[in-house]
Amino acid sequence: MARLGPRHRRLPEILRRLAVAYPDARCELDFTTPFELLVATVLSAQCTDRRVNMVTARLFPTLDGPASLVALGPDRLAEQIRDVGLFRAKARSLVSLSQDLLRLHQGQVPGERAALEALAGVGKKTASVVLANAFGVPALAVDTHVFRVSHRLGLASAKSADRTADQLMALLPPANWISFHHQLIAHGRTVCHARNPACNTCTLLPVCPEGHRRSAPASVLGPGQHSH
Ligand code: SF4
Repeated sequence: MARLGPRHRRLPEILRRLAVAYPDARCELDFTTPFELLVATVLSAQCTDRRVNMVTARLFPTLDGPASLVALGPDRLAEQIRDVGLFRAKARSLVSLSQDLLRLHQGQVPGERAALEALAGVGKKTASVVLANAFGVPALAVDTHVFRVSHRLGLASAKSADRTADQLMALLPPANWISFHHQLIAHGRTVCHARNPACNTCTLLPVCPEGHRRSAPASVLGPGQHSH
C-alpha cells in the first residue's frame, strides 16, 4: 500500500482516470429552476434519485414556486410525495423552507452558501448540490457514494460527511469539485459498490489503497502492474 504514494501524488491520476471513465457525469435529479432543484434535493435524502424524479414529474407541473407550495400545505404535499421515504417530515420541511424563501428572499433561491444554509432544513450537503448544479458555484457535496469511494481511495479520513467535504475541498482545486462529486457518485453506483466493489475491473485499482487490499494477489505483481 505504501508504494501507492501519498494522496496528493495519486490525485492527478485519479482525476484523469475518472474523467476518462465518466466524461458526462452530471446531476441525476430532474429540475428546471433552482427552486425545483432545492425541492428535489430535500426529497432525495435517503431516497434514490430515480424515485425522486418519478415524484417530481407529477409534482412540479402543479407548483409555481414557493408560494404555491406553501398554499398546498404540509398535509396535501405529503400526499403528493408519499412515494419517497420520510415524506411527512419532508413535506413539513419543504413548507418551512418555502416560507423562509418568501419572507427572506422574495421567493427566490439565494445563490450564496450562508443564505442557503440559513433556510429551514437546509444543511451543507443540500446547499452544495444547489450551489453547484443551479448556480455553477464550485461546491462539493458528500453523499453516501462520495463518502465511501473517497475513503476507499484514501483521499479522506473524516468520520462525518461535512468534515469529509472539507478534506476533499482542501485537497482538490475548486475547478474539479463539481465534476469530482458527480464522477464519484457514478463510480459508486456502477463499480465501487458498498458491499462488493468490483476492484478487479476498476479503472482506479492501480491508484486505490482499498483496491490493493481487496485484490491481494494482484498487489504482488508490483507497482504499475495489475491483473487485468
Ligand atoms: Fe472502489 Fe475497488 Fe475501485 Fe478502489 S479499486 S475505487 S475500492 S472498486
